[in-house]
Order: sequence, then C-alpha cells, then structure tokens
Amino acid sequence: MRRARCLAAIVVVGFGVTGVAAQRGSGPRIPPTGTIEKVRENLYKIPGAGGNTTVFITADGVVLVDTKLANNGEAILKQVQTVTDKPVSMIINTHVHPDHNGSNDYFKTARPMIEIVAHENTKKWVTANPRANPAMLPDRTFTDRTTLGKGKDRIDLYYFGAGHTNGDAFVVFPAVRAMCIGDLMAWNMAPLIDPATGGSVIALPDTLEKAMKGIKNVELVIEGHGSVNTWDGLRAYTEFNRALVNVAKVSLAGGKAPEQALDQLATNTKFAVFMKEELLKDLEYGGTPKSRALINLNVAYQELKGEPVTTNVGPRGAAPPQTPAPGSTAPATPPAR
Ligand SMILES: [Zn+2]
Repeated sequence: MRRARCLAAIVVVGFGVTGVAAQRGSGPRIPPTGTIEKVRENLYKIPGAGGNTTVFITADGVVLVDTKLANNGEAILKQVQTVTDKPVSMIINTHVHPDHNGSNDYFKTARPMIEIVAHENTKKWVTANPRANPAMLPDRTFTDRTTLGKGKDRIDLYYFGAGHTNGDAFVVFPAVRAMCIGDLMAWNMAPLIDPATGGSVIALPDTLEKAMKGIKNVELVIEGHGSVNTWDGLRAYTEFNRALVNVAKVSLAGGKAPEQALDQLATNTKFAVFMKEELLKDLEYGGTPKSRALINLNVAYQELKGEPVTTNVGPRGAAPPQTPAPGSTAPATPPAR
C-alpha cells in the first residue's frame, strides 16, 4: 500500500506522468506538448507533456531523444514537421520513465524500422515492468559508451553511473557542441531520485563529476525537463549536488536533522538558484527548488544509514493519495534492487 502510494506520488509530484490530478480538475495542469524551439543549427527541443523531446536532424532522418508521456506522438510529429520533411529514423531514450518513452509506440507503429536506443539498465527496467508498452523496449543498448552515425551526424552516448536511475544516458551531439542529460538534471534543481530503478543521491555527484571529466567540447546542456542550460551551469549544479551530499554526511554524523543540513546548505550563496522558495513556471504541479533540496537531504540520510529510501517523493506519509490512471504506463512495482 505504501509502495503504491509512493509510486503515485512520483507520478504526480516527480515525473508528472499521468497528470491525474489535472485530469480530475483537482490540481494544476501539466502543460501540453509545446512549440518546437531551435537550440542550435539542426538541433531543436520540444517542451511540455512530460520530459523535453530533443530533435536532431541528420542526413538519414530525424533522431528524437525522448518522446514524452503516452499519446503525444502526433503532437511531437506535428512540431517536427514544422522544421523538416524528413521521417523519424531513430529514438534515443535517456532513461526508463514513461514521461520520456511514453510515445515511442506512435513512431514505432508507423515505421517499425525505427531503432530505439537506450542504456542496458533501462532495457532491464522496461523488461521488469509487466505494464510497459513493448515500444519502450530498446532495440539496441550500450553499457559505457557508444557512437551512432558519423561526421556532423555523429551522436555519442555515455554512461557514468547511477543518479536519477541507474540507466541515465548522456547524449552528446559533437558537431553542435550540445548534450541531452535526461533527468540527471531537470528544472535546474535537486533532481528526483528513483531508488526503485537504481537511483541514488550519494552516487549522483560521482556520476556528474565523471561526466564533466569524460565529456569534452559541450557548451549547451538540454535538461530532462525545463530549459537549455550551459556547461558552466552543469558545473555549478554538479558542485551543488556534491555539497548536498557532503553536508548530509557531516550533519548526520553530528546528530543534526535534515532541516538543519538544509540551513547549512543555504549559507552558501553560490547555490541560491538551487534553493529558491518559489514554484518554477510550468512546474506548478511540483515542488520548489528548496523543497527538492530537502527531499534529497532526507534521501541522503536514508542512503547513508543503509535504510530503504522512502522519502524521495517527500516526507514520510505525506504522499498525495492519487493513483495512476487505469492503463497508464507508469512503472509497476519494480523488483527490489
Ligand atoms: Zn525521470
């Protein structure tokens, strides 16, 4: 029961997967698929309806990174068709959550030859979910690194360890010096951690630091939700997530509460953007940056104590009572790690 409620809370608070509250008229609405925006040259981003969809136009066709919530395929295609006549030729999913692979099926049904690419662990989580849509299953996976295409169409995929889940891919477009980072970075605030699919607050800064070292020549970072950030923005975010874990360790050892750790973190003005107390635009259904920081401090405490993580969607017992919509592709109870 607790687990079911917890998952429902992830759906509403964290991933905005079904917008159940919105559909019932009992909460703010998750924005629909938005208007395509140029990021740089042949690279575009479509916001709304779940995670960002990135559009990379190559000689052979259109590569999509993530496909939003279910039933947004047509809206995505309409946006793509405003900038190119080329067909969708490949889909890369940054991770397993259904607000990122929910509309794979629309494209796969129309063109079964479309290849879906994701990290090996993402395939594992899709396979483990009896309610997953078959089109969420990758046709091709990678473990540490792989390259797709060549020349100006080249895409490099990297994996550096656990964070939001344990299957988060970095998708790099070297020719335009840009990268998709999935939900390792979303809304430029402490990310939601999904322990049910291997996510970890403690591992997150290690993963981000490895990426900062291992990936070269990237200037623009397309977040999993929200806007396009910069490499400097990613550096500041990495430092913030490192500081959060460091403060959690010291505060826990000193017998302090997570709220006291939060106060400590707030003393560093460098991190002010990650500690804002207002809801962000288009995230009215979610939490404030500061509330997310507190959530991740609570998660860090539980991970450090070796406890099962139960606080990743908010304080214990405070999960909203919504349930996923019938037939939704929200993750079913995943197997234990
Ligand atoms: Zn996610």
